[in-house]
Amino acid sequence: MTSVKYDRAAWLMGTSGECTQEPACAQPWRLVLLGAPGVGKGTQAELLPQSLDACHLSTGDLFRSAQRQAGCERSPAMAAALEEMQKGALVPDSTVWEIIRVRSQCLRCPGGFILDGFPRTVPQAVALRGLMENEKLALNAVVNYELPIPEIVERLSGRRTCERCKAICHATQRPPRIEGICDQCGGRLFQREDDRPEAIEVRMEAYEWSTAPLIEF
Ligand code: AMP
Repeated sequence: MTSVKYDRAAWLMGTSGECTQEPACAQPWRLVLLGAPGVGKGTQAELLPQSLDACHLSTGDLFRSAQRQAGCERSPAMAAALEEMQKGALVPDSTVWEIIRVRSQCLRCPGGFILDGFPRTVPQAVALRGLMENEKLALNAVVNYELPIPEIVERLSGRRTCERCKAICHATQRPPRIEGICDQCGGRLFQREDDRPEAIEVRMEAYEWSTAPLIEF
């Protein structure tokens, strides 16, 4: 399998980013991935474009990318979103939708999409449905990933991310050869702020309350 890299500039940067991607597929896939944080849907979402030919759109990646920007480059909605994210809390629906609306061309993209982390609440799903109906677009599928909660907590608390290449390993289950150093590129490994124990607790509660009802929806 070859590794497919999509141009996500328009998704990550909004109106200041331009997408240079040529949609390659006549029958695009439009998928939504659901599942608790840490269940592995981000990893799946990175693998799926190799066979499905659609761009991986993650709201978590979008917020993390904004975190690396200078404060003055962030919109007020983005600044408010990052504050909530650092606590492990869900970003309010109206703020998320303001940020997504600016990037709606990515949802209308003729190449399709694999949404990861959005929608995360029923109101977000209603907003997405409205946009899709207006554009006369349909989802092909919603895929729900499941794992027992204690296993998810263990995965999240041991997760370490490379600050350079974004590779992921686990402090105890899949440890790097040299502690704190990425096996793939030699970059520094760090623990995401929202993977710390106090933030994990808040994230799992948010999932139970807000995201799990989406399965029914
Ligand atoms: P993720 O990488 O998908 O786990 O997202 C990381 C964090 O970004 C979450 O814990 C939330 O604080 C925030 N976030 C991402 N997507 C959403 C969303 N659709 N609604 C609300 N908050 C979100």
